[in-house]
Amino acid sequence: MKLNEVPTPAYVVDEAALEKNLKILKEVRNQAGCRILLAQKAFSMFAEYPRIAGYLDGCTASGLYEARLGWEEMGKENHVFCPAYRPEDIEEIASITDHVIFNSITQLKRYAGIVRKVHKERGIMHGIGLRINPECSTQDHAIYDPCAPGSRLGVTLDAFMRAVKEDETLPEYIDGFHFHTLCEQNSDALARTLKAVEEKFGVYLQSDRIHWLNMGGGHHITRADYDRDLLVNLVKHMKEMYQVEVYLEPGEAIALNAGYLVTEVMDIVENHGVQILILDASAACHMPDVLEMPYRPPLKDAGLPEEKKYRYRLSSCTCLAGDVIGDYSFDREIRIGDRLCFEDMAIYSMVKNNTFNGMPLPSIYGMDADGECILVRKFGYEDFKMRLS
Ligand SMILES: *Cc1c(COP(=O)(O)O)cnc(C)c1O
Repeated sequence: MKLNEVPTPAYVVDEAALEKNLKILKEVRNQAGCRILLAQKAFSMFAEYPRIAGYLDGCTASGLYEARLGWEEMGKENHVFCPAYRPEDIEEIASITDHVIFNSITQLKRYAGIVRKVHKERGIMHGIGLRINPECSTQDHAIYDPCAPGSRLGVTLDAFMRAVKEDETLPEYIDGFHFHTLCEQNSDALARTLKAVEEKFGVYLQSDRIHWLNMGGGHHITRADYDRDLLVNLVKHMKEMYQVEVYLEPGEAIALNAGYLVTEVMDIVENHGVQILILDASAACHMPDVLEMPYRPPLKDAGLPEEKKYRYRLSSCTCLAGDVIGDYSFDREIRIGDRLCFEDMAIYSMVKNNTFNGMPLPSIYGMDADGECILVRKFGYEDFKMRLS
């Protein structure tokens, strides 16, 4: 089945594009001498994990469920960071992960002993990390800035120094540091962040006890204008200066521009001269980041509102008046039954979708290098019902 025949709505992952990204990431990995993990929260379509495993070192998780998924389906290095772990989960987490990263001194002290014990039984060394907060904001989007004042994410230098003063054995618990402060950024933002990390935590990084530094995600490595040489140099610098293994855990960069959401025009209505397309895909249900980020997804064969002759507002079947994907223009008049294809729909889409208003979940397809689309998963009424009672 070709892309233009796939029943709508459907996410179609472009495996050739995914592979192109993975090749770039592997090259960076080899040049820099670092390890790269898939941040599963961005893209968890595990049917593609064997392909990803061919290029990357493993994956990272936001908690027990993603950690299990990585353990079951990727089977390589498995890391986890969570702001707070549950006591009933921590042993299982330790039994399926290589690195467990804590967000606070309290969490670290509460669980380091058990993680150390379980890891030791499994022959895993240096598996305990602490997320630090370098307090270096490199972007203006407050909801994506873990460095903003009042952030819960990561231990500030001040808090770290107070904790060390209180308990001098504290550094013995910590094998590595983690920071995650970037979002869709270039390597110049990483350079600024590393400067802050070195200034603030350099003395601790220098310790022989620290074996690794995880630089989180948000590195838009596979974007055309990304400065990969700078990234490689920054990683090399940190490795040499502090004798640490370096990890990167991008999500977006792995499946950037590697998927579509294919949809059909179900109706066209008019209000105040605005032509509105009712689609079988929804921003609120199937691409929530369009409303949350917010952003305007690229649409195949369409332009900015004023660019082409025929202008439409793209919307959906939900009750939410604001469930609008955006205004687009086309060279041709759009008719009921036409298909539209949103681009860059592999990341933060399937992992975030929902069935609000009882909207059906889009099917998931993989498209191979010959353009052949193969159904991976189809959803139905039961998938809606089963979460509700
Ligand atoms: C979100 C997140 C990532 C991945 O971020 P991308 O922007 O998708 O690259 C990696 N690590 C942590 C801790 C995160 O919260």
